Order: sequence, then C-alpha cells, then structure tokens
Amino acid sequence: MSPITHFLASWVVADTVLENDRDKMLVALAGILPDLDSLGVVCDFLSPALGGPETQLYADYHHFLFHGFPGILVLAGVLAWRAVEKKKVFLWAFLVAHIHSLCDFVGSRGPTDTIEDLWPIYYWGPFTREFGNFLWTDQWKLNGWQNVSFTIALLIWVFYAAWKYDRSPFRPISPKVHGEFVKALRNRFGTPE
Ligand SMILES: [Zn+2]
Repeated sequence: MSPITHFLASWVVADTVLENDRDKMLVALAGILPDLDSLGVVCDFLSPALGGPETQLYADYHHFLFHGFPGILVLAGVLAWRAVEKKKVFLWAFLVAHIHSLCDFVGSRGPTDTIEDLWPIYYWGPFTREFGNFLWTDQWKLNGWQNVSFTIALLIWVFYAAWKYDRSPFRPISPKVHGEFVKALRNRFGTPE
C-alpha cells in the first residue's frame, strides 16, 4: 500500500492505544519504516542516468529487509529506545509493522495482472528467501479501489478524531498546526458535545 495509507492506518492504531503523543508518533512511524527497503529505487533510477551501472536494488531488497520478523524486531527496538513507555511502544511498533506487511500482502500489486507484479513478503528476510514467503495471487493493485476506499475510511476517522477528541497526527509535530486544523473543523462542523 502507499506510504500515506500505511501512515494513516498505523496512526489510527497508535492514537487509539497510547496516551503520549511522542509514543503515538513512534508507533505510527513503525507503520511506514518497513518501506526503507524500497529506497534502492533511487539508486536504480539515478545510477544509469548518471552513466553508472544498471542496478536493481528495489527488486532485490523491497519486502526483503524490513518486512519480515528480523527487520521488524530491529525497527521496533530502535523506536522503543526513543519512547517514553518503552515496553508498550516496542510491542505496538512490532504489531503495527506487522500490519504494514499484512497490508502489503493484500494490496501492493503492480499495475499489470502478470505474476511479476505480485509482491511476496519474505518473513525471514534478509536471511533467506527459501522459506517463510507469503504471496497472495489475488493481491489488490496498489491503486485499486480497495486501497482507495481503505484510505478514505482512515482519513474520515482521522478528521473525526480531530474534530471530536482534539487529537491528530499534527499534534506531536506542531501543536500550532494541530490547533488550526481542529479549529477549522469545528468552525465547519460545529463544536462537539
Ligand atoms: Zn511495505
């Protein structure tokens, strides 16, 4: 799924189960950081454009470094290290990163219907591709209606939580932006009871 959908989904979980804004953002990050292993795409694009060798880091490493158990363990550990409630953030980050992989498992197909556009999850990557691989042949397309609907539902929830409960992903980053956001919603939809 797209990083925006991943972020919204993990924010909604974090916002529901945690109290501290910093911890919420750390757990929300656990929902997008698995895609660090897709950054090889930059090199794949730039290297030949700058006269260097052809690379295929994206194809080789995406879903292989941080979408399985070992990579998620590392991500959850690093995020928990920066947290207020470390144990809680570790457990939720671990779970949320798994939700990321699950979302990719169901909805990260490329633009065509060919087998090459299906993305498996390598659960024991980066150590092996021999076993523990998950692939769903009916995988939704990345821009399929299922992903679009899911993203819209998440957005509606984020807007509702901001309007009703004065909580949003902006609050940990910029209380001022958060305040303006909530104010704009309450001006438009009225003050909640
Ligand atoms: Zn991913």
